Amino acid sequence: MEELNHGGPDGARLRLARWTQAMTATRPCMLCGDSRTRPALSHGHYSYVRCSGCGLLAVRPFPEPQELLAVYDDPVEPAVDPSLDPSGEAAVHRVRFSEEIDRIEALRPRGTVLDIGCAWGFFLALCRERGWEAKGVDLSRVQAEYARRRFGLDVFTGTLRAARFPDGCFDVVTLWHVFEHFHDRLAELMEVRRILKRDGTVVIAVPTPNSAADYVFQSLPLHLYYYDEGTLGQVLGRAGFRVVRIRRGGGTGVMSLVRKIGLDDPRKLIGSHLAFLWKAKKIVQRARCIASVHKEITVYAVPART
Ligand SMILES: [Zn+2]
Repeated sequence: MEELNHGGPDGARLRLARWTQAMTATRPCMLCGDSRTRPALSHGHYSYVRCSGCGLLAVRPFPEPQELLAVYDDPVEPAVDPSLDPSGEAAVHRVRFSEEIDRIEALRPRGTVLDIGCAWGFFLALCRERGWEAKGVDLSRVQAEYARRRFGLDVFTGTLRAARFPDGCFDVVTLWHVFEHFHDRLAELMEVRRILKRDGTVVIAVPTPNSAADYVFQSLPLHLYYYDEGTLGQVLGRAGFRVVRIRRGGGTGVMSLVRKIGLDDPRKLIGSHLAFLWKAKKIVQRARCIASVHKEITVYAVPART
């Protein structure tokens, strides 16, 4: 078992108590139904167990859906001035998402795209610039409002199902680091399949367990599952999709890379050295892929023919 956070003796006791509670609570795997698990990661106030049947990593203790929705809803957060860059990585998003759109356009022509969990709207704004008809949904009222005000995007605040899109209305549906947050991922995928055109494509990028140390959540663990190629392929198959491409790589952003070398506010450095830093990031990613310790996988899937 990998220990990601080391605290004092009290912290160790607390973790042990939570770990014991987590281990004794049986919860069948959502993917294969097996109840046997083994410890995988201990991570601050929570842990991940690996299913002995299929290898899926699931968080323990498992948060309730209402608790999670309350975290994303941010009812008291103030609005963000649309002239600001709340992500601090606008330039990085532009480069990254430009490459992501290139990959999608290599598979299929431009059309209508829906970004689930579109956050501040950087991906959708770039899609629209490149000729796509772009829509988004996000649980965060503040982020959705920012995307509407800064980019004039069509963003629905709420869950995907609450948006009530018509059947077969999107060519592409994207989920950038969103799927691992889903409580009922099978229901979400069934809804994605309903709103996709018959020849549509869903693109799902998720962080792998190798990236777990990059994310420490305070009150609730927001990454409910960590997937690999096999488990993500299985859940897609169950929802009626066929995987057409898997890409390994991505993950830790340029900002966190620069933070790791000791700079607290790397925006200025990134602004002036983005091209160099992006190349450095790619070299690191390539090395991680070769060593099979890549931090992200992206799966492209299409509706299976029935
Ligand atoms: Zn399983």
